[in-house]
Amino acid sequence: MSELFVRTLREDPVDAEVPSHRWLVRAGYVRRVAPGIYSWLPLGYRVLRNVEKIVREEMDAIGAQEVHLPALLPREPYEATGRWTEYGPNLFRLKDRRGGDYLLGPTHEEVFTLLVKDLYSSYKDLPLSLYQIQTKYRDEARPRAGVLRGREFVMKDSYSFDIDDAGLEKAYQLHRDAYVRIFNRLGFEYVIVHATSGAMGGSASEEFLAVAENGEDTFVRSPGGYAANVEAVHIPVPAPQSLEGAPAAHVEDTPNTPTIDTLVALANERHPRPDRPWTAADTLKNVVVMVRELDGTQRPLVIGLPGDRAVDEKRLAAHLEPAELEAFTEEDFADHPSLVKGYIGPTALGRESVSKIEFLVDPRVVEGTRWLTGANEPGQHVFELAVGRDFTPDGVIDVAEIRAGDPAPDGSGPLELARGIEMGHIFQLGRKYAEALGLKVLDQNGKLVTVTMGSYGVGVSRAVAAVAEGTCDEQGLCWPRELAPFDVQVLATGKGEEIATAAADLAHDLDQAGVSVLLDDRKASPGVKFADAEIMGMPTNVVVGRGLADGVLELRDRRTGERREIAVADALGEIVATVHGRPNLD
Ligand code: ATP
Ligand code: MG
Repeated sequence: MSELFVRTLREDPVDAEVPSHRWLVRAGYVRRVAPGIYSWLPLGYRVLRNVEKIVREEMDAIGAQEVHLPALLPREPYEATGRWTEYGPNLFRLKDRRGGDYLLGPTHEEVFTLLVKDLYSSYKDLPLSLYQIQTKYRDEARPRAGVLRGREFVMKDSYSFDIDDAGLEKAYQLHRDAYVRIFNRLGFEYVIVHATSGAMGGSASEEFLAVAENGEDTFVRSPGGYAANVEAVHIPVPAPQSLEGAPAAHVEDTPNTPTIDTLVALANERHPRPDRPWTAADTLKNVVVMVRELDGTQRPLVIGLPGDRAVDEKRLAAHLEPAELEAFTEEDFADHPSLVKGYIGPTALGRESVSKIEFLVDPRVVEGTRWLTGANEPGQHVFELAVGRDFTPDGVIDVAEIRAGDPAPDGSGPLELARGIEMGHIFQLGRKYAEALGLKVLDQNGKLVTVTMGSYGVGVSRAVAAVAEGTCDEQGLCWPRELAPFDVQVLATGKGEEIATAAADLAHDLDQAGVSVLLDDRKASPGVKFADAEIMGMPTNVVVGRGLADGVLELRDRRTGERREIAVADALGEIVATVHGRPNLD
C-alpha cells in the first residue's frame, strides 16, 4: 500500500510570486535548495514521473529510441560548434583537477551528433531519432517561480538524423504530431507559434506555449490562424514611395522639444501641414543602445523607428543574440559628442558618417518615406528628410513593439496579443551541427553527404509547474487524473480505532484493486485534514469519519467540489469506477 506521512506544511518565503508554486511548496511537492535549484519530494516526484511517462510513451510511439547521456561534458565538441563561447553566461563551465574544461549540458546537440557519428556511416542507418529525459543546467539570469524556470531542470530532448531535407521535414512533422498528443494529454490550453531559433541556429522552428496570464513569453495571433512569438514576428514591409515632386528637406528651429510630444505640438503650431496635423507617426525617433559582444567589447547602435512606436526590448535582445543589450549612459553620450541627446538625426548616423555609429531602421522606414527628425543641433529638427534622397541607413532592424490591431504579416487579419509559458520547442536545425562536427554518411551512390538534423525539447519539470498553475484554485492544487500523484486520498477523520482501521482497510483494498492511495492517518483535526487534502489536490477524496457508524463514507470530487455519500459495502466498486471510469454498458 502506498502510504505517506504528511508532515506539517511549511511555506517557503522565497519565490512566492506564482500561486501554484506556493501550493507546491506548502503541500510538500518541492523544496528549494538554492535559487533555481529544487528537491523533488515524494508527491512532486510522482507528478514529475507521470509527465515523463506521457512524454516517453509518445516519443516511443513515433519510433524514437531513448538513451541517457551524461550531463557533465567536455569542452571540445562545444568549442567546435562555437557554443562554448556563444552560449554566454548561461553556460555552467567548470574545471577538473587536471585543469581540463568541462560544462554542464544546457542542451545536447553536440553529444548526440558525435554519438551518431561514432556509430553510423551509411544512409541505411537513417532515418534515426534519439531522445533522452535528462537534467539540464543553465545559469539563468532570473530563475523564477520555482521549477518553472530553474537553473537545474528536467528536459526531454530528442534529435532526428536524416539524409535529406524531405527526411528532416518528415521527422519534424512526426515530432510536431507527437507534441500535440503530449500537450493534449497534459491537459492545458496551448498554442503553437512561429519562433526564433536563438543560440541554437537553424531555420524552421515552432514553440508550444501554455496560455497563461503570468507567462514570460508574449505571442500574437490573428483570426486567420497566424500565431507567433513576438520575437519571431516579421512585420509586413510597405512598398517604396516615389519622391517625385516631394518638398526638399528643411531645418527649423524647434526649441525645447526633447520629446516626441513636444515636437509634434510645436510642429503643428509653427509649421502646420496643409493636409492634416502632424502626428508622432510622422517623426523618426532615433534610439541609442549599447551592444556588448561576447568578447566584452562594446559598440553603440542607433535604431530609427516611427515616433509612435517603442523598441521592444525582448525583440531587440533576440535579434542581437548572442551579443547582449546594455543601456546607453550619460558617460557614453559624453564619449560620443556627435550624438546630440534629444536631437539625434540620420545625417550624423551610419558607418560612413561622422559618428561611424551603425544606424538601422524599422522596416516601415522604406525608400521614399519622409520624416520629421533630429538635425543634430540642440533645438533643431529637420522636416521632410527622405530615405534614399537625404540619408541611407546601414540596414533594417525589425524590433519595434507589436501592438494589438497591427496587421498579421500574412494578411490574415489584425493581431491580438497574449501571454504564455514556453513548454516545448521544435527546430529544423539543418546541417549546422553535422557540419561542425563532421557527421557524414555514404549515400546510395557511395558519396559522402552531411546529415541533416532536427532538435526537439519539452520542459518536463516546467510542465509540472505549468499544469499546477493552470489547474489550481483558491483552495490549492487540483491535478488532472493522469498527472495526480495518487488517484485517491483517504482521510480518517474522527477518533476511535474503528475509523482508523476502516480507513486503513479501505486504502489496502483500493491498492489491491490497482488504485493508488494516499492515506492521511495523522493525528490531526478533521478541519486540518480537509484543508490539507484541498491543498494537495488529489482528484478524489474519501472521508472515513462520523458516517461510518451508519455504514456510509463520503466521496469528494476535488475539481467540481461535488460530495456524495456511499455505502461502505459499495465503497470499493464505487471508487474504482470513479477512478477508472465506469464501464460503458450500452
Ligand atoms: P526560455 O525561452 O523559456 O528560456 P528556451 O528557449 O531557452 O526557453 P529551449 O532551449 O528551447 O528553451 O529548451 C526546450 C524546453 O526546455 C523549453 O521549451 C522549456 O519548456 C524548457 N526549459 C528551458 N529552460 C528552462 C528552465 N530554465 N527551467 C525549466 N524548463 C526550461
Ligand atoms: Mg526556445
